[in-house]
Amino acid sequence: MNDIKCKICQDEIDKSSDKFCSNHKLAKAKLQNGYELWLKAYDSLPYDDFLQQLLDLGDLVGALVKDLAEFELYFIETK
Ligand SMILES: [Zn+2]
Repeated sequence: MNDIKCKICQDEIDKSSDKFCSNHKLAKAKLQNGYELWLKAYDSLPYDDFLQQLLDLGDLVGALVKDLAEFELYFIETK
């Protein structure tokens, strides 16, 4: 199958192992980094709460990261 698409923006992906396009993959890494920083600050913070707080920041959050936060919050897949 060659028509693998980013789960968020439907851009084509070349690597079948990837879920996201390169832009959203980068956003995912940023999100992960951010979560780790917040974890240190808050001691414990459920991932969903982190995503929600991120979305509450509105325009302070980059569009790509926001896309991803929304995706992870509302379209959680079985892990
Ligand atoms: Zn994408």
